[in-house]
Amino acid sequence: MSSADDSAFGPGTRVTIAGRRAEWTGTPAHPGAVVSPPVWRASTHLYPDIAALRAHHANADGEFYYGRRGSPTQWALAEALTGLEPGAAGTVLYPSGVAAIAGALLTVLRPGDVLLMTDNAYEPSRAMARGLLRDFGVEPRWFDPLDPASLTAAICPRARAVLIECPGSLTLEVCDVPQLAQIARAHGLISVLDNTWATPLGFAALRHGVDIAVMSLTKHVGGHSDVMMGSASAGADWYRRLRLRAQAMGTVVSPDDAALVLRGLRTMDVRLQRTTATALDLARFLAARPEVAHVACPMLPGAPGHDLWRRDFTGGCGLFSFVLTGGTGAQRDALIDALALFGIGYSWGGFESLATPVDPAAMRSATPWPPATWDPADRFGVRLAVGLEDPADLIADLAQALAVWSVAS
Ligand SMILES: *Cc1c(COP(=O)(O)O)cnc(C)c1O
Repeated sequence: MSSADDSAFGPGTRVTIAGRRAEWTGTPAHPGAVVSPPVWRASTHLYPDIAALRAHHANADGEFYYGRRGSPTQWALAEALTGLEPGAAGTVLYPSGVAAIAGALLTVLRPGDVLLMTDNAYEPSRAMARGLLRDFGVEPRWFDPLDPASLTAAICPRARAVLIECPGSLTLEVCDVPQLAQIARAHGLISVLDNTWATPLGFAALRHGVDIAVMSLTKHVGGHSDVMMGSASAGADWYRRLRLRAQAMGTVVSPDDAALVLRGLRTMDVRLQRTTATALDLARFLAARPEVAHVACPMLPGAPGHDLWRRDFTGGCGLFSFVLTGGTGAQRDALIDALALFGIGYSWGGFESLATPVDPAAMRSATPWPPATWDPADRFGVRLAVGLEDPADLIADLAQALAVWSVAS
């Protein structure tokens, strides 16, 4: 779907106006009668006569045809996301973020191909590569996200695509996406970026050379921990192929879910600003504590990846992690249990704060964990997904949990 050129506006304005076509929010007599598109629940679309039915056989966006191709509720969300991604010609919606990654990779890859993947990738992406993709004849290989030369070294004649996650959603390394995308392009590889952390408000993926930008909309875009969805946005050529592959797989999202995600999108800019600021407060607090050995928060000056984040990103979010000074896994778990305001659960990007243990060692293939430069005793991590609570309350909660940890260790 084409999108209005709104790139001259700021992010708050862009999320407010994105995808709001008057014909999708009104009637022919009163276009734009309501603000948000109604929930069009439909499998069957009706035609006035056979001539009209026959005329609709062209596979075009934004035309009533049959429920699997969506209706104005889903179209408005897809068009809004396209409008937020500079350089995108269209967006395909998937029932989850994992489905979006699978949809993109199954569009790009063929049997016999090699998929190169950053070693910090989200575990379900790794599991997909080891399971589903191997079953379809694709060989996954991992490279060090912080060393572009390791991507170049991994490229072989069968390499077809690169899957980049930036920053890694557990260990928060910021890699040099423009350089990785450029290396990929120079060798004829297609680059796919999991841009869930930054969203297009924080990182303009296609403008930085990426071919396909994927997001879990479950996180920041939905924003309320009550809906699952994913998206893939791309320029005209890849968008067409993504769309045809998604149609071939019968991929469709419900209009009710699309309406929820679109509702979340409208407040995403203010939520991200708030959670970014709170995360930075918490990161500063933690960095000054003796119980904390390392803070992995791209927005924190001096933290790993901060310089690349400043160079390439226009925003952050509330997701970061830290590693405790020594201790045991059980003590780390007790610290998380002692937190009162942080829920214990997977996911992030909701209005409520969450904390989970981080133990990347078992997942790595190409890079050691903990890094060779660290004291090996410092290995038990905590990931915080900061929500919309008051920063002072969250800091007080962390302080009391760290006091419990200090007594135990
Ligand atoms: C959560 C997540 C996904 C998967 O999204 P779902 O909507 O949960 O399927 C993909 N990538 C990253 C980085 C994530 O955090």
